Amino acid sequence: MFFIKNLSPKCLSVVKNPPLCYIYLVVLRRRVKKLKVFVPDYYLDFECIAEKCRHSCCKGWEIEIDDETAQYYKNIPGEFGEKLRRNIDFGEGCSNFILCENECCSFLNEKGLCDIIINLGEDSLCQICADHPRFRNYFEGRVEIGLGLCCEAAAVLILDKKTKVVLEAMIDDEDEEEIPDYEKAFFSLRDAVFEALQNRSMPIEKRMEAMLKICGGKLPEKSVSEWVKIFLGLERLEESWTKVLEHVAEEESFCVSTDEVTAEQLLYYFIFRHLSGGLFDGRIAERAVLAVLSFYMIQIAAKQVGIYEAARLYSSEIEYSSENIEALLEIIALENEVFL
Ligand code: SF4
Repeated sequence: MFFIKNLSPKCLSVVKNPPLCYIYLVVLRRRVKKLKVFVPDYYLDFECIAEKCRHSCCKGWEIEIDDETAQYYKNIPGEFGEKLRRNIDFGEGCSNFILCENECCSFLNEKGLCDIIINLGEDSLCQICADHPRFRNYFEGRVEIGLGLCCEAAAVLILDKKTKVVLEAMIDDEDEEEIPDYEKAFFSLRDAVFEALQNRSMPIEKRMEAMLKICGGKLPEKSVSEWVKIFLGLERLEESWTKVLEHVAEEESFCVSTDEVTAEQLLYYFIFRHLSGGLFDGRIAERAVLAVLSFYMIQIAAKQVGIYEAARLYSSEIEYSSENIEALLEIIALENEVFL
């Protein structure tokens, strides 16, 4: 299976420092010329919690190193260069950090910090380590950047937000954003979805209904145990996810187990992260349904492990596996054909 091996942060000096995050984005934008950068308004508040993190992204994942960085690591002189080469599997077509027995990256030190940053500086990180836990969605004239729920610090930040999320331009310049017509249509649909989701005068179930109506989707009618069977059929990483699913199977029906504001933030996250993929695969309706399904799975799992851990687990098990996402979209698509 291809898990988008999001990896380690330990670009700690960047992620722990909002001004550096900003510089990082400026550099990014220069590289990706002309693209405007949009982020949710909580983005700059993110801080990696390093050694306090119970599920460090430097642990348990196979961390892929991009070719350019692998080449760079091959040529680092001295003792640290030797250590790098001893602890990297320079495979054909793809290089990875070799994990220690406890599945930690060999460069994660006892203080939860990255020895690569300490020895070579933050610019020396491979792409995946420099990015995590960020994700990016590209459009013709802009890139939208968010924080992934698989990071426990990001999950707390996202789910604890009390005010409505607003997307903000990270770099405000004079240039007009060039938006082709098909993206204009998408943004106006998504704005309508966000408006429905953030309409706090309505209960969250009604907001989801409105959102699905706008997108033309319908959650397939399956029992909790039927959904659990589907999720157990997907590829899984952590034993704890399997245990949560097995417990969840005993539930009679889906429910909303958090307050409405947390529920809204969860749904907003999934729409922000996944709906735009519909521009490429045409599955706008299915992606809206996926947001609702993800929401319900996390809500029901939260009864076992709490909302932050449920969100983190779901995200790392499902969102970070393109195969799992595809499999769910396919199941939803089949049912929605009947609906349409
Ligand atoms: S998962 Fe998040 S908080 Fe934990 S080490 Fe990685 S970036 Fe830091």
